[in-house]
Amino acid sequence: MNFRRALITGIALFALLAAVVSAASPRKWALVPGATPEQIKDLIRTRDVRGYYHEDALLIIDENVNEFADLASQFPEARILADVEPSRKVYILEKDLLESDCPGTVRAWGSRIHNALNRYNAEILHSDSNRFIAMLPAMPEVGPSLFRDALLRDISLGTEILTVPEYPLESLLQRNQAALRELAATFGTEGQEVDAARFRLLDQVNEDDLRYYLEYLTGEASDSPFTTRNAYSTQAHDAARWIADQYTSMGFTTTLETFRDDMSPNVVAVLPGRRYPDKFVVLGAHYDSRAIDVNSPTTDAPGANDDGSGTSALLHIADLIRINKVSFDYTVIFTTFSAEEQGLVGSRAYAKAAKERGDDIVYMFQSDMLAFNQEGENFQTAFPSRYTDSDLVELASRVVQKYVPEVDVCLTDACCSDHQAFHELGYLSTQIFERCGPIADNQYHRPGDLVNRPGFSLEGLKYNTRSLMSLLLVFAQGMIVN
Ligand SMILES: [Zn+2]
Repeated sequence: MNFRRALITGIALFALLAAVVSAASPRKWALVPGATPEQIKDLIRTRDVRGYYHEDALLIIDENVNEFADLASQFPEARILADVEPSRKVYILEKDLLESDCPGTVRAWGSRIHNALNRYNAEILHSDSNRFIAMLPAMPEVGPSLFRDALLRDISLGTEILTVPEYPLESLLQRNQAALRELAATFGTEGQEVDAARFRLLDQVNEDDLRYYLEYLTGEASDSPFTTRNAYSTQAHDAARWIADQYTSMGFTTTLETFRDDMSPNVVAVLPGRRYPDKFVVLGAHYDSRAIDVNSPTTDAPGANDDGSGTSALLHIADLIRINKVSFDYTVIFTTFSAEEQGLVGSRAYAKAAKERGDDIVYMFQSDMLAFNQEGENFQTAFPSRYTDSDLVELASRVVQKYVPEVDVCLTDACCSDHQAFHELGYLSTQIFERCGPIADNQYHRPGDLVNRPGFSLEGLKYNTRSLMSLLLVFAQGMIVN
């Protein structure tokens, strides 16, 4: 094969990708040779980055360099190319077939590209045996055609260079937002039979079962050993094992996930989904508790409302799922976190690991403080007004209004629980809370946060447990078998 023919073949096989970077701030580009298109798509979706790919040359664009911190462990050849200014263009030039056809000429071809790029003040980000990646300053006349001319001026070749389109792939968050919109559009059209089955199930939520779990957790039951569940206490480890045992006895796959040596573990119970086993709906609560001194492992901290109430709601719902043989389209994960009180430590560890694994958590619902009822007020189910997804809150409000007519549904400014850990990482998440206004529980974070005291309402907890269960049935697509 002569030099000219090799060039014609090579030129015809060029892949020229011109990606105009449109956002305002610099972005990181990463090259991940050797990744398959499927792996590339997964990377882009799970990391919530904007991505473009061409064959095995992957480019990921994102403003957050931390997204790439562990890329190299999965793909040893991966590397960050550069900050790309929005006013610049990045081109990829493939040359692998030239290499195989006529190795002797490739070096010369490579130096021509180098020369041409230098004339245009281009910065060569990367070159290897298969490709050049170069960034050009923004000049109106430097478009693909001029770039081609520059490269080929000395070659006098009329062949068109193939222009490969860019492929933006939707991110995990975008996909889940689309799923949410679709669910919102169809909610309310389930039909009478489905509704009746849901109401029958929700009717089974009862105060006695909730009281059983609660009084064991707080130490008010005569056979309970607990005086605190502070994450630093040894008793919290015992509480975690007790909670895990409950889930295991209900048929869930249960694990204790240690995230810090000096703190008790998260309890994670999984029920695999029927249609989408790799998509997760997470129900959360935190079993740890605190006294006024957040770090005291010995001070009494019964934590009935905060968050024995959410922990008991989850256990009761799990038990009703078992009894009624409810199955779900999505995999349901009951996560009972530790160290919420020290600043969402357990949930942040969980969410970070989930994100790194690429877990597709479609929705996350936290339940924290469900049982206090201020004298003279109606029962309430409140959703947070911040650190949450407002579209998710809107549909969740509709669901609770429909299935739990006993409660007023509203927003609250009360803040901060484990759903935030998920929200921070781009998962759709929210929380249910007992009250439309701020926290009114006068035993909040005190040794008096018991089940048997004024203001603690098992009836209110029952309704909020129904609210949470209705969300699970709708969002995880529960089906009642019997
Ligand atoms: Zn709490």
